Amino acid sequence: MQTFAEELDQLRAQGLYRSMRVINGAQGSHVELDGRRVLLLCSNNYLGLADHAALRRAAVFGAALGTGSGASRLVSGTMALHVELEERIARFKGTEKALVFNSGYAANTGIISALVGRGDAIYSDKLNHASIVDGALLSRADFHRYPHRDMAALERLLREKPGSGRRLIVTDGVFSMDGDIAPLQQMVQLARQYDALLMVDDAHGTGVLGATGRGTAELLGVMDGVDIHMGTLGKGLGSCGAYAAASAEICEYLVNKARSFIFSTSLPPAVLAPSIAALDLVDSREGKELRERLSANVALFKGRLAVAGFDTMGSETQIVPIFVGPAEATMQFSKELLDEGIFVQGIRPPTVPAGSCRLRCTIMATHEPADLEAAADTIARVGKTLGVV
Ligand SMILES: *Cc1c(COP(=O)(O)O)cnc(C)c1O
Repeated sequence: MQTFAEELDQLRAQGLYRSMRVINGAQGSHVELDGRRVLLLCSNNYLGLADHAALRRAAVFGAALGTGSGASRLVSGTMALHVELEERIARFKGTEKALVFNSGYAANTGIISALVGRGDAIYSDKLNHASIVDGALLSRADFHRYPHRDMAALERLLREKPGSGRRLIVTDGVFSMDGDIAPLQQMVQLARQYDALLMVDDAHGTGVLGATGRGTAELLGVMDGVDIHMGTLGKGLGSCGAYAAASAEICEYLVNKARSFIFSTSLPPAVLAPSIAALDLVDSREGKELRERLSANVALFKGRLAVAGFDTMGSETQIVPIFVGPAEATMQFSKELLDEGIFVQGIRPPTVPAGSCRLRCTIMATHEPADLEAAADTIARVGKTLGVV
């Protein structure tokens, strides 16, 4: 039997070994890494809310109610702030109800394994997030995966493999490693036509996309066509946790059936209050300005990369992959950029398919345009020496 150490050595030999980098101090557009100030180009803190004064103040207010909730939601861990946050999220998404989960991972595994089971069918984009895949496996429903954004393939599966019970179509709104967007308009049509539920995981659209930051479904004009809006509070909204926003019936069902909701101590008040503050901010003038700054930054950065000849893999959002291919070259690219003061992670299997390793750059509203221009130029220079372009 192989030892753990031998398997780890194998990962190293394949260029697939992973380790953590430690950031000193706050999460900002620049961070301190190993005693050096570097440009942060790989955070999902898209609006810069994770160190925003209003969210910090809300956390202090929340902490006045204690540091822990002491129990799971159905025991004694439902505090007034949970209810307030859920009412705010339901209003934000235009649904009857919403439920807060402790993380996006917990939300997806809990929601999917509750809504479908043996004899039911799940239809899932091949590039959906790992937590969706895990939720599908946990559910024991038939798990059908269609090629990325291929609506003809989705329709074929719905027609030929209808299953004998419930049908659930599930997709990322913004795909987390590619930065492109699900064709939600067609998906809403297919869900209606084939009597399926449609669930959208908008971890990367929430707070960011659409005229008022409601996310991918707002951008594509299909807010009412989505049955289960899942989103996270720890990325664009700068806090922690996640939610399902849906009909009162579905939320009531999840309270009774979603195991990650039922069997886990609920989020503490110091985490709930900043999420409420973040929703206020998204709806404020400042929120609108942050979204405008973000999209201007994205256009600037992508424009420079395109001129340099990089393949950004069809990105339509603030997630900007730079295609490299092999794992080793990707990690070398990332390492040389860090030497130049730019922190961007290489993404390898199993997060992305083998041979499609990439740098995953993420743009923030709080990046200075001049810093992004300089970063794009450095990326172009290093990319040329490594033969990526
Ligand atoms: C990050 C992410 C999750 C998990 O959310 P966490 O709150 O970080 O656990 C789920 N889905 C997608 C698409 C994500 O990018």
